[in-house]
Amino acid sequence: MAYKFVDNYREKGARKKLVRLLKDERQIEDTNVLDAIGRVPRHYFFDETFWNQAYRDIAFPIGEGQTISQPYTVAYQTQLLHIRKNDKVLEIGTGSGYQTCILLELGAEVYTIERQEKLFHRSKLFLNKMGYFPNFFLGDGSKGLSEHAPYDKILVTAGAPFVPEIMLKQLKVGGTMVIPVGDEKSQKMITVIRLNENDYERIELDTFRFVPLVGDQAW
Ligand code: SAM
Repeated sequence: MAYKFVDNYREKGARKKLVRLLKDERQIEDTNVLDAIGRVPRHYFFDETFWNQAYRDIAFPIGEGQTISQPYTVAYQTQLLHIRKNDKVLEIGTGSGYQTCILLELGAEVYTIERQEKLFHRSKLFLNKMGYFPNFFLGDGSKGLSEHAPYDKILVTAGAPFVPEIMLKQLKVGGTMVIPVGDEKSQKMITVIRLNENDYERIELDTFRFVPLVGDQAW
């Protein structure tokens, strides 16, 4: 895919409209998250032929049977994380790298892991070209990324069958994990907060549909 970095009046306008939709019709309230979505040119993640799809509130194929998440889903998960500047964040499932850019725009130090080699290489090259520099990893993120743990926040962007215990142990005390858990058809968004060394608070939220988390501690 040949990337084209042109952010015209038309795309800027469509992006503003998307932000308004997320705020007014999808109840996304966190202005930092809305501002970040307003700053990242989502059409850069699409072939130019599909730029007219980039600011619709839909997921879209990115190759390898995967998708760039729906803007609402990105906003919803990010809002739940309450990202603060310099938070150390582990993202499982780099995919296109769009969500990664949103986390970076919020000032997080991002560790992102992708299991599909083609997507890993493509997103690394592409984000670096755009001027985004997270820490990229290739591998099975269902086990987390223990060598850089602990994390303030962990974000899983693929649907898991359960909350992997090994990932929970990589959260700092006071840290938050957001993970969709369910079967192949639908998943509940789960927030887990680490209260102390041994205790966690688990909150179950709305229903979504994600591509599966595949790996040792997953499908
Ligand atoms: N956040 C991404 C974006 O903005 O484009 C969308 C991610 S897509 C919905 C889910 C991604 O998780 C896919 O790229 C998939 O290959 C990846 N994935 C699935 N299982 C994984 C695993 N065990 N470790 C790392 N990545 C995984």
